[in-house]
Amino acid sequence: MNFDLLIAYGWQWLTLATWAALCVGSFLNVVIYRLPVMMEKDWRAQAEEFLAQTESGSTTEAASASDAEAPTFNLSVPRSRCGSCGHQIRSWENIPILSWLLLRGKCSACNTTISWRYPGVEALTACLTLVVIAIYGFTWFGLATCFFTWALLALTFIDYDTKLLPDQITLPLLWLGLFANGFFSGIVSLHDAVLGAMFGYLFLWLTFWGFKLLTGKEGMGYGDFKLLAALGAWLGWMTLPGIILIAALTGLSYAIFRLALRRQTTAEPIPFGPFLAVAGWVTLGFRDSVLGLFLA
Ligand SMILES: [Zn+2]
Repeated sequence: MNFDLLIAYGWQWLTLATWAALCVGSFLNVVIYRLPVMMEKDWRAQAEEFLAQTESGSTTEAASASDAEAPTFNLSVPRSRCGSCGHQIRSWENIPILSWLLLRGKCSACNTTISWRYPGVEALTACLTLVVIAIYGFTWFGLATCFFTWALLALTFIDYDTKLLPDQITLPLLWLGLFANGFFSGIVSLHDAVLGAMFGYLFLWLTFWGFKLLTGKEGMGYGDFKLLAALGAWLGWMTLPGIILIAALTGLSYAIFRLALRRQTTAEPIPFGPFLAVAGWVTLGFRDSVLGLFLA
């Protein structure tokens, strides 16, 4: 990391970049909350359509029921509301971090506590964005690593909340990794990036099926394979053992910690995505150390 690089850009640039990153963090909060809801609505509509086709006779009923429940719901519509009283969030209440502090973490209409996670995600987004800019600078590849960071942040919180890793994020992340390495003089050759995507997917796919054949249980999901494929596309096949090692060790420590606090039962699955995401981001920042870690 090179903080001189950050300082060399001057405070005007840094203020602008920090502010932009905070606004991205605010948008990530929307994605983290709304994308799983949008996916679930989509599945419900598809399931109803499928059932309507197979069960002739009840078609009109099923179709009208799904229509009735389908007001527009996407990343921009409707405007954000208080989850407790439905109060529409005004623009001054939507300023990253500042609004939360001004409102003292409470809804202005009903005084319900607003989770500290909202300003937390905004602050974390800004910090991690500044770190990748300090490493890669205001270059095309640096900009791409900002998107890498934001995608991993969204995936981490979505997987933690819902145990889902949406294709809408993992697949573009994979293609952006191949593109960035191929065209922006990234960190590995296009060849190593493609091999990274292939081996990343295959490794977890084989682990999944091996585990399933041996124990009859599913240890993880297809989203995890796609996420590791994306990390391989960004960081190259040679970093995969290090990424898997870091993810497994942090995941295991987390599980032991939860068990010790009696917050966790052994039957309840822990999502693997957040640990893969953390391991991938750490590897982007400290690639040589992670490579060295495994060789040692
Ligand atoms: Zn409220």
